[in-house]
Amino acid sequence: MKLAILSREPKLYSTTRLVQAAEARGHQAVVIDHLQCNLVLEKGAPGIIYKGAPLEKFDAVIPRIGASVTFYGTAVVRQFEMMKVRTAVDSQSIIRSRDKLRSMQVLARAGVGMPKTAFTNYSDEVPQMIRQVGGAPVIIKLLEGTQGLGVVLAETEKAAQSVIEAFHNLKARIIVQEFVAESKGADLRAFVVNGEVVGAMKRQGKEGEFRSNLHRGGTGTLVKLSRAEKAAALLAAKSLGLSIAGVDMLQSKRGPLVLEVNSSPGLEGIEKATGLNIAGKIIEYTEQLIDKKKVKDVKPKAPAPMPDHQAE
Ligand code: ADP
Ligand code: MG
Repeated sequence: MKLAILSREPKLYSTTRLVQAAEARGHQAVVIDHLQCNLVLEKGAPGIIYKGAPLEKFDAVIPRIGASVTFYGTAVVRQFEMMKVRTAVDSQSIIRSRDKLRSMQVLARAGVGMPKTAFTNYSDEVPQMIRQVGGAPVIIKLLEGTQGLGVVLAETEKAAQSVIEAFHNLKARIIVQEFVAESKGADLRAFVVNGEVVGAMKRQGKEGEFRSNLHRGGTGTLVKLSRAEKAAALLAAKSLGLSIAGVDMLQSKRGPLVLEVNSSPGLEGIEKATGLNIAGKIIEYTEQLIDKKKVKDVKPKAPAPMPDHQAE
């Protein structure tokens, strides 16, 4: 099989591991920088020009699209789809999963547990919003944030009110969320490939930090998920139509609470914490894409998917 790994950075751990894992299974893997792809649209003959020449033919592509380049990256993935190249994660699912609010709405409807969350159109009824999620302390999150940046813990109602008002003034979109204190600065990352949890780790924030992100100094260790945690991770990935997903959950008294679902989850943390060959699992799944019968249907069945259109 000839594989294209869409990645901006060939030296990144996740990229090199995917190349290695593909080669170990007897495939050829080429790293393609999606931002250097020019898309040619022509009746019946969509193509890609890469570094000045038409791109060679691939059997499958594995997209690793960073959050900052979702628009162009997913356009490139879509172009591969138009050229009838199989993709490990489809463009539409990546786009949908990048909209945190939409994802939470879809997950809530699918019956996935989550911290109680509120969202408004810059409303000045801030105390009401805080009360909706159970009162202070509350978590306030920038909708566009990643790696723990843009997640604030407001200990008191006064503090929450000032922070929310400040963000609203800046026209920053935020959600207000119940603070799940019993998770004690830790969360779970379940790595899902083709409807199976192929690895899981517990991430613990550094001393005094409520955010467990590895980028904020957290550490990951191998963990065995409970049946409920596994089920929540699988349902979350499936309801967003993601064949590859990193599902983040908090452990709480009322069971696992999903925080977010990542469509290009990093491999370094999970492989190092678990000692598992997660890259190999992704390649194995990509092989099965060619042999379609073995691929589980990750598309949500009922209820129907949410519309993709967003109000302008
Ligand atoms: P990001 O996209 O920036 O990673 P997250 O929503 O995943 O944002 O939040 C970052 C971290 O903050 C989580 O991994 C978790 O440790 C902590 N956290 C987030 N939301 C809550 C919450 N409602 N209660 C307790 N801790 C939380
Ligand atoms: Mg996170």
